Amino acid sequence: VIRFVAPRRAWRNPRYETRLLPAKKLVVVSPHLDDAVLSLGATLSEASRIGIEVTNLTVFAGDLDSTAPPAHWDRKAGFSSAGAAARLRRREDAAACALIGMAPIWLSFADSQYASDRSGVWQQMEPVLQRADLILIPGFPLWHEDHVWVSNVIYEHEQELAPIALYAEQPYAELAWFAHQRVPEREAPLIGLEDGSLSWVRSRPSAGSWLRKNRALLRYGSQLRALARPSIRLPLRTALYELGRGGEYLAFREPSSAATASLQGRDSNARGRPVRV
Ligand SMILES: [Zn+2]
Repeated sequence: VIRFVAPRRAWRNPRYETRLLPAKKLVVVSPHLDDAVLSLGATLSEASRIGIEVTNLTVFAGDLDSTAPPAHWDRKAGFSSAGAAARLRRREDAAACALIGMAPIWLSFADSQYASDRSGVWQQMEPVLQRADLILIPGFPLWHEDHVWVSNVIYEHEQELAPIALYAEQPYAELAWFAHQRVPEREAPLIGLEDGSLSWVRSRPSAGSWLRKNRALLRYGSQLRALARPSIRLPLRTALYELGRGGEYLAFREPSSAATASLQGRDSNARGRPVRV
């Protein structure tokens, strides 16, 4: 089990008792190569170490063979073409995922820097998501259009899937906190969820898992350089956020009656137990 507690200082309130995560097959959805490790690396490392099968599904992992000139972000990260960015970024991600203990799956779609056809994205995501008994998707602050797009596509198919939990996205969540004093637990749900059914919690991974996250984070050299100078600045800010906020943040919800009915209708042997957190 992974332990989750309520946001800062609220843990003495009995309403916020420790919650457990009984998933066996967890799929975390990363719009870009780095989102899962940046946002949830310690929690995912902990999950892997207690025997949960963790898959990191990256949607916009880029086309390895593209000779298109680099768009603004890839140029900033020092790449000579879209294909060169995809190749090195996947190598960075493979190394980081190995440290965390999760299996990467990369879909070769281009992110919003490039014009591209997204009509086949769901068809490729679906078989991966169907294997999960818990799915983690971007949920706060949803500033990046690719994150919003991916989370919306998954929500459109919510009834066909295992329970979905949201995660606070880095480095956006730390920017929201440092620059605007915005925290997820004080905001109305930004996506797909009725008010009141969502509760944000923070995970409490071991120090070892937290250190593994930070080692993995350093594997994304091209992105750390493009995100901030010096490149250690972003890992330090994320660490400060986690220290100040007490960990990485996830939001679970109570299933609606319709969702409960569809969960109960599933073959529990083939799909694993429905997750209630
Ligand atoms: Zn992203």
